[in-house]
Amino acid sequence: MYRYDNGSLFCEQVNLEEIARSVGTPCYVYSSRSILNAWRAYDEAFGDIPHVVCYAVKANSSLAVLSMLAKAGSGFDIVSGGELFRVLKAGGDPARVVFSGVGKTATEIEAALRSGIRNFNCESEGELNEIDSVAGKLGVTAQFSLRVNPDVDAVTHPYISTGLRDHKFGIDIAAASDVYRRTRSLSNVRASGVSCHIGSQILDYSPILEAAGKVLNLIESLQAEGLPIDHVDLGGGLGIAYQPGDEAPGIRDFITDMRERIGRARLTVMIEPGRSIAGPAGVLLTRVLYRKKSPAKEFIVVDAAMNDLIRPALYKAHHEIRPLRQTEGKTVIADVVGPVCETGDFLARDREMADVQPDDWLAVSSAGAYGFVQASNYNSRPRGAEVLVEDDKWRVIRTRETYEDLIHGETM
Ligand SMILES: *Cc1c(COP(=O)(O)O)cnc(C)c1O
Repeated sequence: MYRYDNGSLFCEQVNLEEIARSVGTPCYVYSSRSILNAWRAYDEAFGDIPHVVCYAVKANSSLAVLSMLAKAGSGFDIVSGGELFRVLKAGGDPARVVFSGVGKTATEIEAALRSGIRNFNCESEGELNEIDSVAGKLGVTAQFSLRVNPDVDAVTHPYISTGLRDHKFGIDIAAASDVYRRTRSLSNVRASGVSCHIGSQILDYSPILEAAGKVLNLIESLQAEGLPIDHVDLGGGLGIAYQPGDEAPGIRDFITDMRERIGRARLTVMIEPGRSIAGPAGVLLTRVLYRKKSPAKEFIVVDAAMNDLIRPALYKAHHEIRPLRQTEGKTVIADVVGPVCETGDFLARDREMADVQPDDWLAVSSAGAYGFVQASNYNSRPRGAEVLVEDDKWRVIRTRETYEDLIHGETM
């Protein structure tokens, strides 16, 4: 959805300079069409297999994004009471919400049960006992799946790989049958599925297929024992192309391959994509403040920093950076750095890029997921604005924070 037209970078039919000038920078921009197309690619590829595409809220939890997806019929994968609050505010259907995460509190569990969510993806026996007890108090039955750890290597950055035996996530798949058996003695929970999520930014999805195969085998044996398992939850994790040379897997290809495995299993399939829906849809706009040279390096100092986009510092992530106005020919090899007082505050290192000058604007690509949601106020920097583009229209969906916002709730 991002392309140059007459030398200017556009999102859908909107010239990004218009947004940068009127809203200021740093500013996140999202293409609504890109988000909806990706969600629909999942939804349509399942065809006649009963399924729920549960968008992983943590990737981009903007109310406008959630509301748009809710209208399209999306389900939601949440990992906190705060995300549940957002989904409900945005008009999401609780009957299409699944609740994941290793550390759900009793308060969060109660809120989820009261709102009538579809399913808890449980990550420990302790948590299951807690859900049983809260459900008992409320006089309801909670549906759950165990998130199993299939011991499959997702082949991604170690911080976003989750499916190996030494990770904190899930229950070892070899122990899962016993745990399911023991849950028969709990009267306020019902085993309805098995879930797994082996990691994020997975470019070769064969490990996800391998994990699904293991999960389907487990489901078969649980059903044979008479457990009422009727769904499989495949988690999220499909990667996107961040840099030239990245071969992003096609959503349709992935689901088509998955359908072949699931075949005749007569299960409802849930999937929890986040990054692959929101990631490519967003850019972070920033303005060049200064150019600076050390004996060893060129620096491009910009007004966005690690507090706005932490992925480069946290995961050594690569984000393409393009000028809003195309420059002819000349390039420079530079570090793109922000104003935060940390050496780790960079958006790019040793990057060959356009030879931009102060007051030029840049777009940091593929920033729609795990961008604004991981932003902080470090260095007392107000978080930037967010904008949603739809065809030739755009609107601010979150205003830039003010200094007053920075001290909200504080006392001397
Ligand atoms: C983070 C997460 C997702 C989404 O992962 P993506 O890589 O953004 O698709 C889905 N399910 C669970 C349980 C998660 O923790």
